[in-house]
Amino acid sequence: MAGKSHIVIIGAGVTGLTTAVFLAEECYKVTIVAAHVPGDSSIEYTSPWAGAHWHTHATRDNPVECDWDIQTYDYWLEILQNEKKDPQLPRSGLKLMTAYKYWDFPTTTDIWWSPYVKDFEEVNASREPIKSINKRAREGEPMIVDAMMQKEFAINVPQYLLYLQERARKAGAEVIQQRLPIESGLNNAMEAAEGHAVAAGRGNADCFVNASGLGAGKLCGDQAMYPIRGQTVLVKGEAVNPYTRSGKDYGSYCIVRPGSGTSILGGTREADVWDETPDPAVTQRIIKYAAMNVPELLTGPDGGFEVVSVQCGLRPGRKGGPRIGIEALDGYKIVHAYGHAGGGYQNSIGSARLVSKLVQESLSSSTQAVAKL
Ligand SMILES: Cc1cc2nc3c(=O)[nH]c(=O)nc-3n(C[C@H](O)[C@H](O)[C@H](O)COP(=O)(O)OP(=O)(O)OC[C@H]3O[C@@H](n4cnc5c(N)ncnc54)[C@H](O)[C@@H]3O)c2cc1C
Repeated sequence: MAGKSHIVIIGAGVTGLTTAVFLAEECYKVTIVAAHVPGDSSIEYTSPWAGAHWHTHATRDNPVECDWDIQTYDYWLEILQNEKKDPQLPRSGLKLMTAYKYWDFPTTTDIWWSPYVKDFEEVNASREPIKSINKRAREGEPMIVDAMMQKEFAINVPQYLLYLQERARKAGAEVIQQRLPIESGLNNAMEAAEGHAVAAGRGNADCFVNASGLGAGKLCGDQAMYPIRGQTVLVKGEAVNPYTRSGKDYGSYCIVRPGSGTSILGGTREADVWDETPDPAVTQRIIKYAAMNVPELLTGPDGGFEVVSVQCGLRPGRKGGPRIGIEALDGYKIVHAYGHAGGGYQNSIGSARLVSKLVQESLSSSTQAVAKL
């Protein structure tokens, strides 16, 4: 079947592009149809707004998602090893860094992933850099109580998206920028996607992949989809040690954008908020908490951060978790791949491998199958 079947992927975010890379490199003919592509900026396109880093949110009671995250960690290690061996390879924008996780309270987190990541260590609050962070805390400011460190990936997301797109193109994939109609159901959208592929000389589709992120809510009427808004502040400088901090009533993080001379500060998660306008009070809160943890970035003339931009992105949340499964609709074969919420990068490799497997299954079966996570 490989080498002959034509797969039309709806969506050019990290989910669609990673799937495109795997399918195209397995010799499928791949056409991506998407309203937004790498380089674009829109509230409807989540991937460019992410921090992003590998910092698993999966829990032991969800072994599938734990496995996706570990597969991604291992695969990214391979990418970096290959880049080191061959300087001619396109750069992915990935960087393995020593990162910290801080808690302002005694943690009960089940750190199931510690055997799978490099250099994991629990860190006593009397050690650096925690000792200095706590020492700098002013009256009324929180103190770190528990901490761990590990080697974690930071991702320069604009670069990584372009890298994936180029890899897919090099393996024969084509990207068509078109918005698909959402008014009259998924069948209509697939028909339109196929029409664009035919018009571009790519031929009819044998199978579709629906990687439309938050757009899937409207595209296939999935009521379980909802936005989880995250506000971020892009600042000058690359932090020495990225961190994530859980406070009693706040969250805070700093993620480096490798090679860009910038870092992303954040820590907000607001369910069901669609508004893309940043809240100035939230910006101040993000800055206040980040300043405690990455003093090396306080390079502004006033002793504060040098702010480049403030923005919001909408994580594609889904009640019940991501939808990865096969559906047969009026003769169309489709594999759904959306709803990755705040983990679309860190689970992208495991998730895309499963989608590729389901595409293969879907092509070789004539009956309807529904595999839902
Ligand atoms: C502030 C923030 C921080 C984050 N941090 C992290 C992190 O540290 N680690 C991590 O793993 N994840 C992180 N995420 C989550 C991650 O960004 C998402 O899970 C991921 O980007 C989702 O990718 P996607 O490809 O599924 O969706 P998207 O990137 O939204 O792509 C959807 C695609 O579908 C297309 N589409 C939709 N509707 C239509 C239509 N009608 N017609 C044609 N095309 C359509 C869009 O144009 C787009 O190309 C973060 C997100 C945010 C907002």
